[in-house]
Amino acid sequence: MSSEATKTSVYVHFPWCARKCPYCDFATEPIRKQLLPHEAYADALKRELGLRAADLRGRKLVSVFFGGGTPSLWAPGALGRVLTAIRHAFEEVADDLEVTVECNPSSLDRRGAAALREAGVDRLSIGVQSLRDHHLRFLGRLHDRAQAIGALRDAIAEMPRVSADLMFGMPEQTPEELGEDIHRVVDTGVRHVSAYALTIEEKTMFGSLHRAGKLQVASEERYAELFEHAEARFCELGWGHYEVSNYAAPGEESRHNLHYWRGGAYVGLGAGAVGCLDEGPGRARRWRNDPNPQRYLCGGTLETEVETLGPEEIIRESLMLGLRTVEGMDLEATRQRAASDPEEGRERAIQGALETGRLVRSGRWLRVPQPHWLKLDGIVRDLF
Ligand code: SF4
Repeated sequence: MSSEATKTSVYVHFPWCARKCPYCDFATEPIRKQLLPHEAYADALKRELGLRAADLRGRKLVSVFFGGGTPSLWAPGALGRVLTAIRHAFEEVADDLEVTVECNPSSLDRRGAAALREAGVDRLSIGVQSLRDHHLRFLGRLHDRAQAIGALRDAIAEMPRVSADLMFGMPEQTPEELGEDIHRVVDTGVRHVSAYALTIEEKTMFGSLHRAGKLQVASEERYAELFEHAEARFCELGWGHYEVSNYAAPGEESRHNLHYWRGGAYVGLGAGAVGCLDEGPGRARRWRNDPNPQRYLCGGTLETEVETLGPEEIIRESLMLGLRTVEGMDLEATRQRAASDPEEGRERAIQGALETGRLVRSGRWLRVPQPHWLKLDGIVRDLF
């Protein structure tokens, strides 16, 4: 096998949840567990994999991420069938292949975690969000603190690697509460945490309540305080803040996400999934599958959005994703991928940001220093 095979990740979207959370705008539908089409969905994914066979030629599989939605509602045997088919669809599979499944505490127990391990999964990412029952009720979650801690313990007992998601910015949440949640989660043995700010998305129940003036959100100052408090707690633990929303004990970074932030190729499978594959220097193809699970199951039109990315789009993607990370954006790798110089036409903007310390350059790397991460969106926008 050629050592030149293009490293490629696979994202599998599972488009159902037990209940729709009021803040969530992901492509998911609520469904009763007994109505889940476990095997039919696996069959549909295998069909899509077959249709994409030509795209996978000459590629090396480096990570698989089952996201959603709530993939922990899916029968582990059906998920395992899909994972096996994905492995077989690639000419080459990395020795250290990372396979992650997103789970909710309300649909994960020790048996489920063991069955996923048996199916070839080596990492679970658990949607804890908070360890305060009043915050969990506010977020419309189906679990409470005890269930969240139980799910983390079950996962750690069966899986080599476990990550937890936490949210911040709930009304009245204090930095101390967030700090205690972080310590309690880390105490269970978790070695990776994604900490996301609660944002109000327009097409959600929270969006409607906010427009009607019935939902207060944290002020910008409070978000900043929570963000900085979380960073300080993880720093005390010796963890790295390796991406704006992600923290890891040394060596525990998510390889799947790093691949994505570095502009790596990825195949999206399933209803509503997004994929993006390079088609030679300066050209990439991005698609979104039909988000309707019923139509996806029936095998109708697969892709509902297709976009061709040229050099400038590839450079902008690279700026948006790479500058989110502590390592920054690899100017040389971007130049090769985009077949164009990412600095050309941006000389003044880059120079201005370097002079004010919002950007730092070391060799081929351009990065935003951590103290400026709260202003990241504006810094990236100035470089467009
Ligand atoms: S469980 Fe996750 S994906 Fe499902 S609705 Fe809630 S936040 Fe969205």
